[in-house]
Amino acid sequence: MYLISNREMLLAAQREGYAVPPFNIHNLETVQVVAETAAAMSSPVILAGTPGTFSYAGTDYLISICQEAARKYRLPLALHLDHHEEQSDIETKVRAGIRSIMIDASHFPLPKNIEKVRQAVRLCHTFDASVEAELGRLGGQEDDLVVDEGDSFFTDPVVARHFVDATNIDSLAVAIGSAHGLYQGEPKLDFTRLGQIRQLVDIPLVLHGASGIPEKMIHQAIELGICKVNVATELKIAFAEGIKQYFSEHPEANDPRKYVVPGKIAMQKVVEEKIRICGSAGRL
Ligand SMILES: [Zn+2]
Repeated sequence: MYLISNREMLLAAQREGYAVPPFNIHNLETVQVVAETAAAMSSPVILAGTPGTFSYAGTDYLISICQEAARKYRLPLALHLDHHEEQSDIETKVRAGIRSIMIDASHFPLPKNIEKVRQAVRLCHTFDASVEAELGRLGGQEDDLVVDEGDSFFTDPVVARHFVDATNIDSLAVAIGSAHGLYQGEPKLDFTRLGQIRQLVDIPLVLHGASGIPEKMIHQAIELGICKVNVATELKIAFAEGIKQYFSEHPEANDPRKYVVPGKIAMQKVVEEKIRICGSAGRL
């Protein structure tokens, strides 16, 4: 059993009008929650890790855990490199067996972004790995990636077409008003812009920073071509809250086999909810 690219998953979602949820995982327990829930709901899912997650858990450990989850639940699982930037780092992880990649060079000027993404695509496609890249710049914070609101900017539809043609990527992460982390107040998404991008770009589109975006807006985004809806922060909060609650009721607790369980249950509820919102249940 091996880990697959997300290319076919996202193309199926695009054809049939739903989105595949990628869930950021960090360790054995979070992989267990996502894989068990995906299997129970027959949903395609992507397990995503930032560079910080791979450094923390170890690439080989994570690959082994995710491969075992794929085998145990007979799932077509993609372990995805979320917001990776360094070509050498991507190469090491692709050679180790990962087939789903995001190269984030969105902080560079356009020609440099294109050059870096093309380089990653050349490498990854040799290994039949899928490549997602970002155009525009999301505000907010995800792990070590911090972007001030003043430095964020939206994806230009015409430039998006050029970017996709020039790089040969498999999916495009768009900046239409979502942000990493949690929102202060109601998020605003530029659906007109998303519709314009959809008209000019025919590959699957990706929405980052979906934690806290209301269900109705997610549905509208999926109708306009979003095939992958990234969720990270909400999972971390649920996991932590479950454990905090347990310790507040059992201050003497010290057995991880017990105190981690409420965190897993709380996280599972979020995973179920996101699968339902993405419309991906029953698609396997
Ligand atoms: Zn992101």
